[in-house]
Amino acid sequence: MITELVLSLEKMLGQKGSVGIAMPGAIAPDTNRLKNANSVCLNGQPLQADLQTALQRSVRLANDADCFALSETTDGAAAGASVVFGVIIGTGTGGGIVINGQLLRGANAIAGEWGHNPLPWPRAEELPGPECYCGKRGCIETFLSGPGLTRDYAAVDSESQDVAQIVGLAEAGNAVAEHATGAT
Ligand SMILES: [Zn+2]
Repeated sequence: MITELVLSLEKMLGQKGSVGIAMPGAIAPDTNRLKNANSVCLNGQPLQADLQTALQRSVRLANDADCFALSETTDGAAAGASVVFGVIIGTGTGGGIVINGQLLRGANAIAGEWGHNPLPWPRAEELPGPECYCGKRGCIETFLSGPGLTRDYAAVDSESQDVAQIVGLAEAGNAVAEHATGAT
């Protein structure tokens, strides 16, 4: 699908482009295979090599939260800051750290990632917590994410809602939605 997308865009533009992809997870420095991706089908795969073969060119891959943190440092909300911690909360909980304009990668290529730590001050009813794709239970990502929000809401309202609907209800003053989003 990625090959088809790239080739169709190049046909439309009439020229060959370069390819860079912001992705979940990280490329393990020791194996060059993907790890820590919440799109779990990617884990263990040589994604960069596969894409380079399929596209017949060099392909750059980087963690999406790292890309976000570097982008905001370069010309966004954190422009001019010497130390930046960028946080993404979406399907999961990710982060990236930029120091003096340079991305901090870390020995395992996961510097700044904080989604698989436990809740700092869990209440009794939050233990042991939901199962996480990483194999543990109660990771902060299972609470601070779109799926976590919809699960919290579904626990107190039989009418299921997606994240956008829950946020809309919270903004309209719905007490259940406000509680699920942490607004109260
Ligand atoms: Zn986890």
